[in-house]
Amino acid sequence: AKESGKRTWCIFSDELAERARIRRETEVDLHRALENNELLTYFQPQMCASTGEIVGCETLLRWKHPTRGLIGPGSFIKHAEDTGFITRLGDWTLREALRVARRFPDNMRVAVNISPLQIHSANLLNTIVNALAVNQIAPSRLELEITESVLLSDTEFTLERLRKFKELGVRISLDDFGTGYSSLSYLRRFPFDKLKIDKGFVQDIDHSEECRAIARATLQLAKALNMVCTAEGVETEGQKQFLTENGCDELQGFLISRPQPLDKLTHLIDIRDVP
Ligand code: C2E
Ligand code: CA
Ligand code: CA
Ligand code: CA
Repeated sequence: AKESGKRTWCIFSDELAERARIRRETEVDLHRALENNELLTYFQPQMCASTGEIVGCETLLRWKHPTRGLIGPGSFIKHAEDTGFITRLGDWTLREALRVARRFPDNMRVAVNISPLQIHSANLLNTIVNALAVNQIAPSRLELEITESVLLSDTEFTLERLRKFKELGVRISLDDFGTGYSSLSYLRRFPFDKLKIDKGFVQDIDHSEECRAIARATLQLAKALNMVCTAEGVETEGQKQFLTENGCDELQGFLISRPQPLDKLTHLIDIRDVP
């Protein structure tokens, strides 16, 4: 028993050491990635359900890693959040997204995901004000996507911050609606302009009466509270039809387009040349 205990410990500590090594490596890597322009902003179109017009794009990060290839945010955002690097990464993403958005048609909006830690950074407001001014983008064309987890801690502080963004004219979306712990009272207390139905509910619309009921109720709630409703993860004509019939304002998902570099979206978006 002693032997096997020791072996377990060895394996365990090897694993911990390995994990710590990957952590350190990823962190060094991420710093270098920013400096070497390895991080890319992809854009996923958001379509008006009633007119079919593309009304906005969500910014989604990709990492063109020199040896590991194209990496999705799933494997590095969490890490950047744990190490605090997300503040710098988030600032960069905002500036880059707004720089690219200069090439959008006049009224098209740009959505950017904001991590809870960023909301607490004193810099965020400044970064936004500056990036909007430098790129001459009207504040109402910028949407900050935040998740319910932001609302869990420091509620008053968060509320204060969100109000500042609203005063600027920036729009705020509640992302991944239905997956967190939020109480419905948040919807009344926070100044959300938009509610995004999580793709987990959208994905089962074709097969599950429960998901249809939740989607329908969410759409009604958004309507009643005067919020725009966007469905994410729309993949099938059936989902599109159900959501449209039930009053969903905007659709986003592979059915309309995968996230792409802006230059690959010319078939959907009238992209401008800017210096
Ligand atoms: P999210 O904000 O919920 O973004 C939607 C995710 O769903 C994206 O994954 C998108 O590629 C994916 N998706 C879109 N349409 C479909 C569809 O029809 N079917 C399916 N199965 N998936 C679809 P992605 O790009 O891997 O991003 C994952 C998450 O990483 C995002 O989830 C967001 O939370 C985070 N993220 C991405 N970029 C940023 C960023 O710049 N800052 C922060 N803080 N987080 C980011
Ligand atoms: Ca999002
Ligand atoms: Ca989402
Ligand atoms: Ca999500």
